[in-house]
This record gives sequence, structure tokens and C-alpha cells, in this order.
Amino acid sequence: AKAEGRGAYRFFTPALNEQMHQQFQLEQDLRHGLESEQLSLHFQPRVDMRTGHILSLEALVRWNHPRHGWIPPGRFIPVAEATGLILQIGPLVLRQACGQLARWREAGITPVPMAVNLSANELYQEALIECIDGIVDAFAIPPELLEFEITESATMRSIDRAVDILAGLRERGFSIAIDDFGTGYASLNYLNRLPVNALKIDRSFLADIGAESARHDQAAAIVKAIIGLGNSLGLEGIAEGVETRLQRDFLLQHGCHIAQGYLYSRPLPGARIEPLLQAGR
Ligand code: C2E
Ligand code: CA
Ligand code: CA
Ligand code: CA
Repeated sequence: AKAEGRGAYRFFTPALNEQMHQQFQLEQDLRHGLESEQLSLHFQPRVDMRTGHILSLEALVRWNHPRHGWIPPGRFIPVAEATGLILQIGPLVLRQACGQLARWREAGITPVPMAVNLSANELYQEALIECIDGIVDAFAIPPELLEFEITESATMRSIDRAVDILAGLRERGFSIAIDDFGTGYASLNYLNRLPVNALKIDRSFLADIGAESARHDQAAAIVKAIIGLGNSLGLEGIAEGVETRLQRDFLLQHGCHIAQGYLYSRPLPGARIEPLLQAGR
């Protein structure tokens, strides 16, 4: 810190020190949590709004901390990315996702495809595809049953490499969705190069559908543009964060029929998804 000059010291206020301490504690706890199986998955259905049928599921990681209870991924995933722990969480999530698919298969329940999130640091790992192959083969999961979600901003970190890596995944039969679409300022030319199957419309845009009029109008324009873009590129459009019937009607009216959101279901543990899979198909 000395090399950065005296000015650098003024950032070490007691508040910042406290925050750093908390992050460090979180990292230690997460390291331990990974070893003692405190991480598990919930699954959120993606529904065809025209029929109500479940088309696929998204796997979302959950951390049950022994003292603090459930810690949301929005709090610990960024820490995991900053510390490299994500490179252990990623494979754990994929193993649990494949394990769940395999258990459903053994129980005679026809599984639906499962989407798994890949963070930017995982995406650019040298051994990514090898690691995925190893896990998927161990559970004998057909690649058509897996989709990887990658954020728009992760693909933009290094577009040429992202194109190569995604092409490798597609070659193996996996699907790819661009997550949080609309938040990363990708150009159209660039989107056209990415070998993807689906666009997920970010929840922040949906949240403003039905809001007061200026915000609604702006969000409506963006959502319509994303749906149109997806349709014209032959990509599936998935709307995230659908909470109201008004949002559902808006989406259907503008040509998007796949939704993931509280209107249909919150993320649920596997045991609670099971009856939905048996009934809803
Ligand atoms: P995401 O990938 O955009 O996941 C969607 C988030 O939106 C989930 O939050 C989900 O519970 C929430 N959501 C879905 N429908 C609604 C709705 O109708 N209303 C509202 N208010 N929220 C809704 P969650 O599970 O807290 O995850 C937050 C983020 O943490 C995820 O955002 C993703 O970026 C990250 N994450 C979660 N699991 C994993 C994982 O296994 N690996 C990685 N790398 N990241 C993960
Ligand atoms: Ca996601
Ligand atoms: Ca998302
Ligand atoms: Ca998001």
C-alpha cells in the first residue's frame, strides 16, 4: 500500500476494516461450508405460459450456514468469484444437478432439462470442458438435459475465447443461454457470433412492467426489443422474474411464452419439484 502513496491510507477507515473482516470471515466460513456439505440446490421451473407445463428447471445454489442460517447466493457468489472458491462451487453444483437428474431417472420420473449457472471465472478455466465431461459422464446424463447459463457480461470479457468455449459446449450437445440479457450492452454483431440457444430477459426489466407510466414505457420498449431480437435470431426467449399476471399477459402479447418467476413457482428443493414433474407434463 505504501507504493500507492500516502493517499491510499485514507481508505482504511474503521468501517472499511470491518467490512474486510466480514468478507474474510465469510470466505473462511464458505471454505468450511464446502467441505461440510452446507451447500445444496433449489430448482426453479421455467413454464410454458400458454399451457402451464414445466419445460425445464434452473438449479440455484443455497448455503445453509450453521450460525447465520440461509445466506443468499447474491452475497456469497461474488465472494466466491473474488477468492477463486467458485472453482470448487461450480463442479459441486454440476454434480448435485446431475445427481438429481439421475435420481429422477431411477425413480421413473421423466426428467426435464436442467440449467446450471457458469460464472465468468469458470467459463475461462482451461479445464472447464474436461471437468464438465467428467461429471456428466459419471452420472450418464445425456447432454440434451443440460443447459449452461452465462451472463452477457461474462461473454464480453473475451469474446473470441467465449465463442470457442461455447462452441465446444454446443458440439457436445449442451445448450447455452445468455443470462441477464440487456444489462451488458452487447452489440448485435457480437450476439450473432455467440453460439447460443436462448436469451434470458433480465428480471430488472420485467420488474418495471406495470410500474408507473414512464418507467413502464421504457421497460416495455426494452422487453419488446429483446423478444424481437431473440425471435429474429431464432433464439428461445425466457423471461425471468415474472411475478404478476399483467407481466405474463404483456409477454404473451409480444411473443414470449417461456417464464421463470414467482407467479409460477419459487425455487424449491428437489423433493417438492418431483410432484410437479409428475403432474405437470
Ligand atoms: P440469476 O442467475 O439471475 O438467477 C435468478 C434469480 O432470480 C434467483 O435468485 C431467483 O430466485 C430469482 N427469481 C426468480 N424469479 C423471481 C421472481 O419472480 N421475483 C424475484 N424477486 N426474484 C426471482 P437467487 O437464487 O437468489 O440467485 C441470485 C444469483 O446468484 C443468480 O442470479 C446467479 O447469478 C447467482 N447464482 C445462483 N446459483 C448459482 C450457481 O450455482 N452458480 C453461480 N455461478 N451463480 C449462481
Ligand atoms: Ca441464471
Ligand atoms: Ca438471470
Ligand atoms: Ca440476474
